[in-house]
Amino acid sequence: MNSLTALRSAVRGRVRLPGDPGFDAARRPWNLAIEQTVAAVVEAADADDVAALVRHARAAGLGVAAQPNGHGATGRTDGVILLRTARLDTLEIDPDARRARVGAGVSSGRVQAAAAPYGLTGLPGSSPVVSVTGAALGGGLSWFGRAHGWIADGVTALDVVDADGLRRRVTADADPDLFWALRGGGGDFAIVTALELTLHPAPRLYGGRMLWTAEHAPAVLDAYRRVTADAPGELTVWLDLLHFPGSDPMVAVDVTHLGGADEARDLLGPLERLPRPLSDSRRVMPVSEIGSITAEPTDPGPGLSRAELLTGLDDAAAETLLAEPIAPLLSAQIRHLGGAFAQPSDSPHGPLAEPYALYLFGIPADPATAEAVTVRQRALAEALPASGRKPLTFLGPRETAADAFAPAALERLREIKRRRDPHGVIRGNFPVLG
Ligand SMILES: Cc1cc2nc3c(=O)[nH]c(=O)nc-3n(C[C@H](O)[C@H](O)[C@H](O)COP(=O)(O)OP(=O)(O)OC[C@H]3O[C@@H](n4cnc5c(N)ncnc54)[C@H](O)[C@@H]3O)c2cc1C
Repeated sequence: MNSLTALRSAVRGRVRLPGDPGFDAARRPWNLAIEQTVAAVVEAADADDVAALVRHARAAGLGVAAQPNGHGATGRTDGVILLRTARLDTLEIDPDARRARVGAGVSSGRVQAAAAPYGLTGLPGSSPVVSVTGAALGGGLSWFGRAHGWIADGVTALDVVDADGLRRRVTADADPDLFWALRGGGGDFAIVTALELTLHPAPRLYGGRMLWTAEHAPAVLDAYRRVTADAPGELTVWLDLLHFPGSDPMVAVDVTHLGGADEARDLLGPLERLPRPLSDSRRVMPVSEIGSITAEPTDPGPGLSRAELLTGLDDAAAETLLAEPIAPLLSAQIRHLGGAFAQPSDSPHGPLAEPYALYLFGIPADPATAEAVTVRQRALAEALPASGRKPLTFLGPRETAADAFAPAALERLREIKRRRDPHGVIRGNFPVLG
């Protein structure tokens, strides 16, 4: 019996091997543009099962890559058993301690729905289907990061299976190195089975999208720059240039305010005074509905993205952004950072000094379109004032950990990896030694 066949008796969860019914669907990541070759797919039954899997993989000379959904898949999976974490679905909210215990397969949307009745919130990103664990391990940019920092900053403890296949509890006191690495250094150090994170009071949330036709883009961008110049941490505003196939180019502004509607409208004054938008979905909303603001696709599809951190958005940058239509891109998004993102953070990425993030997205419908999307992304990225570093969760499949971390942080991550996983059993999507 070879080691992969033996896998079926080593773990209790579902094992799919090449040739099994459903193997191809099970190995596919969320981003269908990524081809992912794996030795097997295991849907672990629980944390002990994850430990059994890691011990088996180690003995067989294979790696284990955890992938809740594969939004951040890179295709670096040769010689890897793909671990699906959907059954690690614990979700406990302690409203008095303002703490959540979240299984590795739990989505951001589930945490938001469970925290909302207590007037609490996690740190959600734009998509409710992204896993809390995947986002937190990569640092994670939340809507509320300007008020509360990286998603990873709120992680207080992690239950993991280490590279020896042993279950451990990782906290700042119990294991400071691994705790530091896991709060933003990626999935290269241990398999997380659950984590604990701080919840924040959010008695009121006001948010939504204002949408105009693209002819208003210069005025919208000007107002956006004025609003973001002195916005408080509770207010987060993103700008999107949109061009969906078959429709006219548009410009949108997405807003969340951890506070009331009147206060938000005051803070958004320059945007309020623009011509009436085509649509305006802003409203007082429960934190569980935050995903409706950008309404990103929740089903798998192919995508090509490129992100940059911008050192500013001055007149020249604004002119560059609007100089030509964004096509063949579908969207060019500017996220306002600053606030708590810029405060000290003892995490691998450290504080984000850059006040804005740029995210450029297109669909590689065929090879020629893929090339055109890449060329347009490169042209925009090179013309805008990019710092050169990027958040780990926003890296593209051809980028590496060195694009996210400063040299000293990367060296510390590499040293931890060599010491804690000398046989390279745990495989993150952005390996620190790769
Ligand atoms: C539509 C969309 C919206 C997004 N919005 C945001 C956003 O607002 N903010 C943001 O920061 N990012 C955002 N992202 C990026 C997203 O956070 C990353 O792709 C991240 O990887 C989480 O996605 P996932 O849950 O599918 O994880 P996957 O892509 O499946 O996993 C990512 C990596 O995390 C590691 N990992 C995951 N689980 C474990 C585990 N249990 N143990 C060890 N390692 C693990 C592995 O290295 C894995 O390769 C978005 C992505 C998309 C497609």
